[in-house]
Amino acid sequence: MSAPDREDLMPDLDRHIAALCRELESGDLADIAAEIDAQPLVDRLVAALAAGGGHGTLAADFDELDRRLIAYGIAGGLVPPAHRVFVPNPAAQQPQQVTVEVWACPSARCPRWLQVADGAEPACGVDGAPMIRKQVTS
Ligand SMILES: [Zn+2]
Repeated sequence: MSAPDREDLMPDLDRHIAALCRELESGDLADIAAEIDAQPLVDRLVAALAAGGGHGTLAADFDELDRRLIAYGIAGGLVPPAHRVFVPNPAAQQPQQVTVEVWACPSARCPRWLQVADGAEPACGVDGAPMIRKQVTS
């Protein structure tokens, strides 16, 4: 994996934060982190995000986590290649201006969102707070 270009750093960082949120919520990352001795790294990422996070530290920690996950055998690390394609929020995909309702992470640092569907209310994996329903306009 080559180092990201400077302008790619922010979107890539956002993708990593959203992936961390998703993987922590699913519980899969906790098991793997314990196996590869990466729990302190994950704890530090979560603490940095909860505190508003310095970007330099976050990017370096995500790089290290990716390196360990790849060494463990997970292709692509925290953000698998299939998830690397940026998917804009549903409102941005509509030709006209529309408003859709999504579940969004309550943390300003976490860009994760989910389409509203029936079922249990999702929670942010980073800080455990319930996700909030939010109107998104294209
Ligand atoms: Zn989140």
